Amino acid sequence: MRSLIDIEDLSVDELNELIAVANDIAAHPEQYADACRGKKLATLFFEPSTRTRLSFEAAMIELGGSVIGFSEANSSSASKGESVADTARVISCYADIIAMRHPKEGAPYVASQNASVPVINAGDGGHCHPTQTLADLLTIYREKGRLSHMTVGFCGDLKYGRTVHSLIAALSRYPGVEVVLISPEELKLPSYVIYETLNKKKMAYRQTDDLEGAIPSLDVLYMTRVQRERFSDPAVYERLKDSYILTVEKLAGAKPDLSILHPLPRVHEISVRVDKDPRACYFKQVMNGKLMRMALILKLLNEASHGRSECGPAGDLLINRVRCRNPRCITSTEQELDQIFRWTEKENGICRCLYCEAKEIIDERK
Ligand code: ASP
Repeated sequence: MRSLIDIEDLSVDELNELIAVANDIAAHPEQYADACRGKKLATLFFEPSTRTRLSFEAAMIELGGSVIGFSEANSSSASKGESVADTARVISCYADIIAMRHPKEGAPYVASQNASVPVINAGDGGHCHPTQTLADLLTIYREKGRLSHMTVGFCGDLKYGRTVHSLIAALSRYPGVEVVLISPEELKLPSYVIYETLNKKKMAYRQTDDLEGAIPSLDVLYMTRVQRERFSDPAVYERLKDSYILTVEKLAGAKPDLSILHPLPRVHEISVRVDKDPRACYFKQVMNGKLMRMALILKLLNEASHGRSECGPAGDLLINRVRCRNPRCITSTEQELDQIFRWTEKENGICRCLYCEAKEIIDERK
């Protein structure tokens, strides 16, 4: 069954096709009002969310379908100890498509391997958030008229900000995109994103902690909040939470056609005075998210009805008893899950966990 777990599950042609459908929905919403009549979306949210869950629900309702689901782990059988795999099998009997958010990285992937309906990853831990990326891409496309040849600044929590990881992966597939990574030392982009995406795709990038210095070169500025829920030590969060605050004054040197994005919720990273600036696009981004989720639901349901199935994970795999050491990985809680790694450098024994993408060095002889 075709699911969307990682933004790289979609080809560039498919991304472009989703953008075209979303634009068509915006222009002719009445033509889509019955497109999913009789279909049900299940929103399985094991972690708090307002925007993403309601965006999925609004998308399905505007397509004429209906919605079931829950919005916190306590109100699901997970609180009784049910596995993600079993939850996916059960919900497949009730719904035609599933949107899942989970604090464990790789949980939506496990769900997709066990569901008989398409699964959409609505955010898994600090790993990825592909439908936010669809919203971001549509916003950039609508503001700039292109997704290539531009300089994009990412500012704030680049370590735990899953939307940053997914958007960099998506932009790496368009030519001429240069990335400026603006963060404090402790919140730098994880090395797996640097090696696997920026280096392998030969994407130009630079790292800095100076927001004001970087602003004049940017076509797009992607602000993010510091992800409080991912910190084990609250004191570290308190020290870092206000690392960057975008103000009207800091925008003085910015390009007149800069586009300012933020996946929301905003805490303090953007002063409310910036909202009146025509370059502020973060509320348009919310509307664009709903349109892209509509286009995605249509696509996956259409493919499911035509029996399109997903082939297994690509690449050279290793099934091993070595456990993934990332405490946020779904393999730390889901019972009887095979430990599967994808080789990145066989000679040096470097692998990435299939579920959360954390790196491991594995000696095959053991
Ligand atoms: N809404 C986005 C997410 O779910 C961004 C955030 O929470 O900061 O990742």
